[in-house]
Amino acid sequence: MIRYRCDYLLCGGPDMDVLSDGVVDVDDGVIAWSGAAREAPEADWVNEVRVPGLLMPALINGHCHTPMVLFRGAGEGLPVDRWLAEVMWPRESKLTPADVQAGMALGVAEMLTNGIATSSEMYFHPQAMAAAVTAAGFRSVISPAFIEDDSFAGLGSVADQLELAVAFKDHCASIPTVTAGLGPHSAYALSADTLASIGVLAVEHEMLLHIHAAELPGENDMVSALGPTVIQALDRLGLLTQRTVVAHGIWLDDDDIALLAERGVGMCHCPVSNMVHAMGVAPLQRMQAQGLDVGLATDGPASHYRLDLFEEMRTALRVHRLATADAGALAPVDVLRMSTQTAAAVLGFDDLGQLRSGFRADMVHLDLDQLSFGPILSNDDIVPAVVWGGSRAAVRDVWVNGEPAVVNGLPAGAPIAELRAEVRSRAVSLAKP
Ligand SMILES: [Zn+2]
Repeated sequence: MIRYRCDYLLCGGPDMDVLSDGVVDVDDGVIAWSGAAREAPEADWVNEVRVPGLLMPALINGHCHTPMVLFRGAGEGLPVDRWLAEVMWPRESKLTPADVQAGMALGVAEMLTNGIATSSEMYFHPQAMAAAVTAAGFRSVISPAFIEDDSFAGLGSVADQLELAVAFKDHCASIPTVTAGLGPHSAYALSADTLASIGVLAVEHEMLLHIHAAELPGENDMVSALGPTVIQALDRLGLLTQRTVVAHGIWLDDDDIALLAERGVGMCHCPVSNMVHAMGVAPLQRMQAQGLDVGLATDGPASHYRLDLFEEMRTALRVHRLATADAGALAPVDVLRMSTQTAAAVLGFDDLGQLRSGFRADMVHLDLDQLSFGPILSNDDIVPAVVWGGSRAAVRDVWVNGEPAVVNGLPAGAPIAELRAEVRSRAVSLAKP
């Protein structure tokens, strides 16, 4: 048992209060007790770790394509349809497992140093991604991506890819921090038959189904043969279940939102990516009002530049306050919850996103002596300070499953200079026509 004793503690849960002089007891990667030090039980702890500053749940990135750090900056300024078809897919069709592993390793190091301990990924070569996640001591739900386009002929037939996806699930059974999902890219990038087959497989194997939907302004028209809206089309094809996670969800009418809520679908809100590609403003308040779980997510680093949920939280506050002309429309505590416990719920985890007894010890230690944080006059100032002024500069340590993954601001064991050089040289090759 290790006892973490911190100046301030945010356990998460219904109240999101910040306690002074907190304790978190961790036994074998799981939290045994948390709360105020004066109430802490006499524990048989073998070691006490002092945490000067704030200890809080690590952040969870609900939708990402992390290996796209290989393509960061490519296609700048293009709308999503042209950006995918003209810039991304030609590069991605050439990706090797070694490319993906290098990109994933560098992106995971970036996420960890930004206080993120878990991501949900949709990408190619899942084994290579899992290897990078394991090496970094990170946690991921990895969903192999499916796109039916001639550029991806090298990945084999859909039947072959489905078989590999099931094999990947078996592969993950022995990896405690990697879970397998299925990642059909979108309703417009796949045939109805393939979408339906993936839906059947997800139910049969109890896998998370991770898909982009209602992102493009004209997406409903692109799939009009399948249903009046993309959400209704996905439902008709059997893709909307409690294990479905939809990314973006911008162009939704009230019936779509009601249907998503009825099916128990989780939503990932990506405000920075939505703005970078000029896709629109997602109806966050309408989704939340109908009871949808909405987590925050960065989307891929080629759409965002930064794998940074501090930036995402601030952007969500700004865009929804501006869009509703209401400075009280969304509070810092709301977006912090969306980046921790709600994101965990969206991804189907009941033991992540809070520092409470029985939860996994995925924790982040923030230094509160940042210039962008002061002055902090009471504990109630801490969450707004973290959300409005937080950055990787404040992230001192990150633990995943109780194991140190970031120590004193640096990823534990990741050879950053070597990884950067390798990613750069691979990016040069992939950019060649
Ligand atoms: Zn995406």
